Amino acid sequence: MEINLNGGSLVWLRRDLRLEDNNAILKALSFETKIAICFVFDETILNPLLCEPLAIKDSANLVKDRRVSFIHQTLKELDENLKKIRSRLIVKYGFSNQVIPKLVKELQVKNLICSSDYEPEAIARDSKIKNIIKEIGVNFISVKDQCLFEKTEILSKSYTPYTVFTPYKRTWLEKFFSDCQINANIEKPNLSGKIINLSENDSFSFPSLKEMGFSDKSSLPFNIKTGSSGARTHLKEFLTKIDFYKLKRDFPAISGTSYLSIHLRFGTISIRELVKEILNSNLNFPTLSEGSESWLSELVWREFYMQILFNFPHVASGCFKKNYDSIKWVSSKSLFECWSNGLTGYPIIDAGMRQLNETGFMHNRLRMLTASFLTKDLGINWQEGEKYFALKLNDFDLSANNGGWQWAASTGCDAQPYFRIFNPITQSKKFDPDGEYIKKYIPELKNLSSKYIHTPWLAPNEFLAKAGVTIGSNYPSPKIDHNTARINTLKRYETARN
Ligand code: FAD
Repeated sequence: MEINLNGGSLVWLRRDLRLEDNNAILKALSFETKIAICFVFDETILNPLLCEPLAIKDSANLVKDRRVSFIHQTLKELDENLKKIRSRLIVKYGFSNQVIPKLVKELQVKNLICSSDYEPEAIARDSKIKNIIKEIGVNFISVKDQCLFEKTEILSKSYTPYTVFTPYKRTWLEKFFSDCQINANIEKPNLSGKIINLSENDSFSFPSLKEMGFSDKSSLPFNIKTGSSGARTHLKEFLTKIDFYKLKRDFPAISGTSYLSIHLRFGTISIRELVKEILNSNLNFPTLSEGSESWLSELVWREFYMQILFNFPHVASGCFKKNYDSIKWVSSKSLFECWSNGLTGYPIIDAGMRQLNETGFMHNRLRMLTASFLTKDLGINWQEGEKYFALKLNDFDLSANNGGWQWAASTGCDAQPYFRIFNPITQSKKFDPDGEYIKKYIPELKNLSSKYIHTPWLAPNEFLAKAGVTIGSNYPSPKIDHNTARINTLKRYETARN
């Protein structure tokens, strides 16, 4: 069967892997013509993951990547939903700047519709594709979808992008409560009659993970559910505890946060639906509970960093504060490996890194602590840590990851001042007082008492022997002394400031 959209619209899904409240789909539905929906497993993104020296492989030499598995499972769910209305998701594997122009030609579409992406490489890709398809008379239409306010929608009184969070948030909230209509079409859009009938067609077979060089054994942690159904499950669960979010969000042993970051990253749920649900859960709206207010604030951080990346794209390759590009960092492969493998000798740091390596997730408090430790205790360039997180995080998002790293390293726009350096011991005592989180990820320390769990090297020998711990043997001694490292860091930053 030849498929022909006869001047209809092709929706290209990227970071919006859902049918519900999807602005690109809604835009396509606003035209009178037929539509089809596609996704491209883009070799530009996948090939570096296959060549990555740190990639983990299964026994068949296939790369285990949880994000690729997440996307694959999510697309399967989406395809099943489209099958119910006698259509299919068109899934391709290749370079999008080749696949997409070919597809729009084959299907004879008039409009290619997608949701906007704000990352420098994505902007360059889209602009290239826009130019290619323009030659054959196809319109490239991109719509706002992944955030409530994009690009330059939130500006200061002098019409410049904000570089400090608090005034950005104030303006964001003012705009949100005054003119933002949260208008989420949470029901599945009525695609029947509009979407092209593809149920009989085999030519759009779904590429398997194996065909693309990836393992189907890269298991997501048990608490991460895929697809729009998974996102809704997380949201439902979180709404029962959102009122305690502010109180509990900093304690890694408690499940106090939403775990929605991977869903926000891949757009399995819309930001509008999330915000609408939070507001609906507040009986005294417009007065929000402390928890809801605090959670909304995190969503504003997300958009703050998105607009920073869009308006100041140099942050993707260097410090926001350019004078810090001259910092003389420590170059030490062995120290970096101790950090990345969770073997620094500081239990809270090691637990964070092991959580990341084992599950692909790391609690926000630990992201701040491990990032600070790498840059300000080990003195290693934040970009090395940023790269490692980018490889490992299930929810990796360039703007949030870059923003988080530059915040911790004090090189960012509204960052921690360079002289504020997290003390890994006091932070550990404060946020994991009984060492519950530490013991979960460092089982070799599980028999140490709360008194010594944060500083095992200070425990008397008889305590260590009783707990089965031998410092330097089954758990490392601290790789650096925090107080000495602090002095060196202050010098390093002060030299770069002058
Ligand atoms: P919740 O606490 O439930 O927060 C809700 C949502 O708000 C999150 O899902 C996320 O989308 C957003 N959010 C929360 N905190 C932040 C923040 N500080 N900056 C931007 N958005 C935020 N988040 C990512 O989504 N991807 C990343 O690659 C990423 N890298 C980070 C690197 C560092 C060094 C640091 C310090 C933070 C990073 N964060 C990143 C932010 C934050 O740690 C995660 O969003 C959060 O831990 C995810 O868990 P959650 O969904 O349960 O969050």
